[in-house]
Amino acid sequence: MHYDVIVIGAGSMGMAAGYYLSRKGKKTLLLDSFQPPHNKGSHHGETRIIRYAYAEGEEYVPFILKARELWSDLEKETGKQLFLQTGVLNVGYEKSPFIQNIIASSNNYSLPLEVMEASEVNRRWRGISLSNDTIGCFEPTSGVLKCEECIEAYRELAVTYGATILTNSEVKEISVKDKHITIKTSSRTLTADSLVVAAGAWSGKLLSMLDLDLPLHPVRKTFAWYDCNEKMYNHYDFPAFAFDTSNGLYYGFPSIDRSGLKIGRYDGGEEINPDKPLDGFGELTEDEADIEQFLSHYMPAGNQLKYGKTCMYTLTPDEKFIIDLHPKYANIAIAAGFSGHGFKFSSAVGNVLSDLIISGKTELDISPFSMNRFKSI
Ligand SMILES: Cc1cc2nc3c(=O)[nH]c(=O)nc-3n(C[C@H](O)[C@H](O)[C@H](O)COP(=O)(O)OP(=O)(O)OC[C@H]3O[C@@H](n4cnc5c(N)ncnc54)[C@H](O)[C@@H]3O)c2cc1C
Repeated sequence: MHYDVIVIGAGSMGMAAGYYLSRKGKKTLLLDSFQPPHNKGSHHGETRIIRYAYAEGEEYVPFILKARELWSDLEKETGKQLFLQTGVLNVGYEKSPFIQNIIASSNNYSLPLEVMEASEVNRRWRGISLSNDTIGCFEPTSGVLKCEECIEAYRELAVTYGATILTNSEVKEISVKDKHITIKTSSRTLTADSLVVAAGAWSGKLLSMLDLDLPLHPVRKTFAWYDCNEKMYNHYDFPAFAFDTSNGLYYGFPSIDRSGLKIGRYDGGEEINPDKPLDGFGELTEDEADIEQFLSHYMPAGNQLKYGKTCMYTLTPDEKFIIDLHPKYANIAIAAGFSGHGFKFSSAVGNVLSDLIISGKTELDISPFSMNRFKSI
């Protein structure tokens, strides 16, 4: 069967791309090794933080504002609530790049931000205990995306717009001849005029079939839910959060509909082979200790572990994304290396990928995410 576009990887970025491509009239096929949304890649665990005053750098702000607009469009189109405006509390040392980038993003893009001393944070949220050498930056308009539900929404709509989705269909081979793309799974050969590669932790392996050697490093990550005092930590009263501490960068979510307080650590994690099963939560001795040292310092209200899970980040050396056309083939768009902070952008990334395939260009500035910043290209 021949398609206008094949998308390899129907996860966070790929499913959004499939939605935009099919909506824009392209005959689109999405292929995935599993049945997305699923719990084998980078998009499971119920929730992802979306914040706009961006600690990772101001260059992300136009992108995230576009993503916000597109998430809101998706909610309107599906009639589903995918975003919860819990606000996000960022905590760190006043002079740290983390806090300074947030304040600069807020000032330069007029984003609402309440900068507070530690004592004010402790007064406002009784479940938090900060020492006086840190400050809080509360972004009231940001919040939480229901990640699997977002992917499901894009999946349903993509099918409505005519896309075909083949699940349990791992791509084994890619070849390009005279701009003609051929893809092989174990049971099918498929062809297309254009290709999107959005294969998450497996991107390095797939891109090597297209002669690209990109510095993409999949790592194992853990996160866990804790039984908590619902009066303190429920999502109507308690925000999502990101804490840049001297022991690591931690993030978390309030208890949403009594799910418990969810916590994870952003930095660290062992490099892994995504084709091998991950050690489960608690199989490595540091899994629980890592999160519990954070809780005992900053949220010491007797929270008890319910359960934990593991997931993968795909890190680039500078932790910036790769969103680009293939340097040799203008009909291949690539989205990879989302370095543990990509979900919030996936609506905008999907739209950008569809623009790149259809017209070779896009309105958003994607130059910071070009792959030619790596020497290997
Ligand atoms: C624990 C955790 C917490 C996070 N928290 C946040 C957060 O709060 N905010 C935020 O913005 N981001 C967050 N992220 C990051 C975000 O979830 C990821 O950046 C994003 O999901 C990456 O999307 P992706 O499309 O690259 O990968 P995925 O969503 O994993 O999609 C890749 C897809 O490709 C498929 N695939 C791979 N190889 C093949 C093949 N050969 N053939 C067919 N299909 C294939 C896979 O099955 C998968 O479905 C978090 C990530 C983790 C793990």
